[in-house]
Amino acid sequence: MNRYQTIPKHLRYTIMDFNRQFPDDAACLEHLMQQRFPGNITYCDKCQQERKHYRINGRPVYSCDHCGTQISPMAGTIFEHSSTSLRLWYYAMYLMASTRCGISAKQIQRETGVTYKTAWRMFRQIRSSLSETEKQLEGSAVEMDETYYGGTAKGRRGRPMRGDKQKSPVVGMVERSTAKRKGRVVALATNDVTAKNLSGIAHEYILPSSTVFTDEFTSYDSLGSRFRSHKRIKHSAGVYVVGDVHTNTIEGFWSLVKRGIGGVYHQVSQKYLQSYLDEFSFRYNRRDYGNLIFSEILKQVSLRASMPAPRDRGMTPATQDAF
Ligand SMILES: [Zn+2]
Repeated sequence: MNRYQTIPKHLRYTIMDFNRQFPDDAACLEHLMQQRFPGNITYCDKCQQERKHYRINGRPVYSCDHCGTQISPMAGTIFEHSSTSLRLWYYAMYLMASTRCGISAKQIQRETGVTYKTAWRMFRQIRSSLSETEKQLEGSAVEMDETYYGGTAKGRRGRPMRGDKQKSPVVGMVERSTAKRKGRVVALATNDVTAKNLSGIAHEYILPSSTVFTDEFTSYDSLGSRFRSHKRIKHSAGVYVVGDVHTNTIEGFWSLVKRGIGGVYHQVSQKYLQSYLDEFSFRYNRRDYGNLIFSEILKQVSLRASMPAPRDRGMTPATQDAF
């Protein structure tokens, strides 16, 4: 496939690799166990200490090698209350990882035969695990810009017309890449784009020692005093680049998100906008990982899991049937 020619060999992970690594639910369960509790060692409530655990045949649980108390590696994860097989969850994460523009619930519905509702819920759950915990930007050059999703008014910037309440503002900040460091992005769904709100956001995520690049939108007027310098490009005068003064990096990110949401998700309700932004930011911030973003998603889902619940909590009969 043409797409792989641009991904270095050690960063490739194809559907063949996926099928080989995760042939069935049991392989996925073992992977989840290892990811959360390396060496199958975890705390046993009854023994009140770390114990090695062994897989119980035919059931998605592991038991303490000392007292036999059982734990489920799925407890506390997004898979816990699901009647969907663990392998299908893994496949959904694989699909999400291996596309640049995001993947739709429709596609996984077509490919696997689960209902649209189930597919949609799976993606929502996976997406909920992808928000970055470390959002502070460190780059010495950071571009900041806002855009809008939804609504009816058209226009290059898409700033809402008076009374157009459908449009949801989004604020983005992106570090420019340097030879040493790939620039990262932070994108936030926000209530308004007042000067107060935008400077508050800038202050929270951008270091005072950074140079900030924006356009001439008046809400950025007061930014200058807070940062090393503030450079602005006059989009209204039809100017897009003057030397290093531009916002092309963040606009590139917006068009990626728009292409994804427009072409794949079709419509995003305001409520879920942040989680879509999180998904696109997660992929953008790992764009040099090639297809290894899949293992990053797997890691993130495990990291987000709460500590294992007492045995058998919340396991539905359907989950057990899958094994
Ligand atoms: Zn025990």
